[in-house]
Amino acid sequence: MRLILFGPPGAGKGTHARVLAETWQVPHWATGDILRRHIREGTELGKRAKAVLAKGELVSDALVNELMIDQMSEPDGKRGFILDGYPRTVGQADALENFLKRQNEKLDVALYFKTSVEVIVDRLSGRRSCPQCGANYHVRNIPPRVEGVCDRCQSKLVERADDRPETVRHRLEVYEKETSPLLDYYRRRGLLKEVPGDLDVAELQVKLRKILAGLAKQTTG
Ligand code: ADP
Ligand code: ZN
Repeated sequence: MRLILFGPPGAGKGTHARVLAETWQVPHWATGDILRRHIREGTELGKRAKAVLAKGELVSDALVNELMIDQMSEPDGKRGFILDGYPRTVGQADALENFLKRQNEKLDVALYFKTSVEVIVDRLSGRRSCPQCGANYHVRNIPPRVEGVCDRCQSKLVERADDRPETVRHRLEVYEKETSPLLDYYRRRGLLKEVPGDLDVAELQVKLRKILAGLAKQTTG
């Protein structure tokens, strides 16, 4: 099972990707999480990416492609993977396609989380994230069991710097310009599946499970 999840920031990709990855026992690779880990650990790459993320811009295709292709080349990706936040530009989509071709593999589906602006703004302004494991919460919609503490790893939750309203606005512009062309890209390849990102987590999870179960049936015949 090889899927990509894309859609505007705040669409819920990360939240759903984590659950799906557990159900299907495949790795979940979120480019944003991987970049933030590099920033936290102060690696060379992290140093280059830090200011870019803070401004809500995209890291260069060259850098992200290298990062994700290294990741996908690891043995734990053999049975499949869920990509969350990659590809995010047509250049990245081409790089992914070429990589998979070389491996004689292909994507099963590109899930597009169609989400309205009001929902995005509400979710991002209430979002709290775990700096350690990447889990996301929302002060009202998805509160952690203990306020301010991650359910999974007990780390202290933080508000992401790029969830500030001005930065959110810019991220949405970048999304429109750079990422929304992926809609046509995957539609033309017959891989696009649109899901309603506005739904709450439990409702959308039911839909996603159905889609994935359908795909699994197709691939196993
Ligand atoms: P969101 O989907 O909510 O915007 P992410 O955690 O996926 O959050 O991404 C946060 C930031 O990381 C982006 O604004 C961008 O700077 C960087 N980033 C993530 N994925 C990519 C990518 N595929 N290409 C370039 N930059 C990326
Ligand atoms: Zn955590």
